[in-house]
Amino acid sequence: MIKFECCHCAQHIEAPDEFLNALIDCPGCARKVKVQPMKEPETSFAPDAPARVPAPNFMGTESEKCQRHAFWLEVSAALVGIVGGIVGFKALGAKLAGDDPGIGFWIAGCLIGAAFWFYLIAQLVHIRALLAKK
Ligand SMILES: [Zn+2]
Repeated sequence: MIKFECCHCAQHIEAPDEFLNALIDCPGCARKVKVQPMKEPETSFAPDAPARVPAPNFMGTESEKCQRHAFWLEVSAALVGIVGGIVGFKALGAKLAGDDPGIGFWIAGCLIGAAFWFYLIAQLVHIRALLAKK
């Protein structure tokens, strides 16, 4: 069923789905009224725009998918960053103790760099999720 309002008298009308875009007589004011689902306020300025009923749901799931991806990217960034920090501190400790830190600083630099990129990509995915929501 399509629920909508008469554009002349605001009478609430229900019509079967197969009447979509058909002209019917309003039961309230008996004038011709087009059967179309109620629109959101921001789209009411374009009364002849084609109905886009399944779109919001689809975009919602797309947005949620992006948010999940961003979340896991951030978790990865945090884990890689923590490991990089630990390796860095161990190398620093070895250097302060007079030992050879070896490639500790190099590994720590790579890990922290990777964490930075993971985080950056996560933010881009967040932005994509926000755009998909609109
Ligand atoms: Zn009416």
